[in-house]
Amino acid sequence: MAYIDPHIHMVSRTTDDYRAMALAGCVAITEPAFWAGFDRGSVEGFVDYFGALTRTEPARAAQFGIAHHTWLCINPKESEDMGLARAVIARIPDFLDCPNVLGIGEIGLNKNTRNEMQILEEHIALAKSRGMLILVHTPHLEDKLKGTMLIMDAVRNQGVDPGRVLIDHVEEHTVRPVLERGFWAGMTLYPDTKCTPQRAVDIIEMHGTERLWINSAADWGISDPLAVPKCGLEMRRRGHLAEAVRRISFENPLAFLSQSGRFRTSV
Ligand SMILES: [Zn+2]
Repeated sequence: MAYIDPHIHMVSRTTDDYRAMALAGCVAITEPAFWAGFDRGSVEGFVDYFGALTRTEPARAAQFGIAHHTWLCINPKESEDMGLARAVIARIPDFLDCPNVLGIGEIGLNKNTRNEMQILEEHIALAKSRGMLILVHTPHLEDKLKGTMLIMDAVRNQGVDPGRVLIDHVEEHTVRPVLERGFWAGMTLYPDTKCTPQRAVDIIEMHGTERLWINSAADWGISDPLAVPKCGLEMRRRGHLAEAVRRISFENPLAFLSQSGRFRTSV
């Protein structure tokens, strides 16, 4: 079954992963800019990374019939250095006209600090000024609910339509406030942390499939680039219809991402 993985970090994955995803039915992906597992020492490090996201990865994905898209930002973990963060943000507009750039992301909060909050607001303002979509990373564990509420307030304070913002890494205690405020919600399927496929299907059974998507967020850590089709299998095992699997893993990401005017699938 054709599917979209709307959050995956292919710069950290092998070519074999692209092949396995294509064989499993992946027709399109989106790759947010993120923390690379180490802090970059200069603005030029980010500029090189944006080059990889807008040129190298689309070409690598195309070899396997997968349409590649990206989101640009300086991630919240490296936003604590506001001088560096502002210098990186100043270079982002150079890349926003690249045809595979959907918007600004994954922005958000890591430790909910004042500096992170300021840089988050500057990213939101950039997205708003360019009329672009936003993809949001929410902090982990005990800070998640507080951080999620702070982020949603920051979006609302700038008058951005929540229907053009995806709040990612939602869990049982954050999915409802996100959906109730009109945002889209993403569930990240990790083998141990975040949502396992089983927990994700529990959430789908509790909240339905409206404005909800699933993603692997596979990166350089313990993660699974085939998590989206595996979650679909878990849904089918529990008796959900193929239409429901298609809605959460294809039609919903297609609906949200198509608002960019740039999203395409290879089918
Ligand atoms: Zn990510």
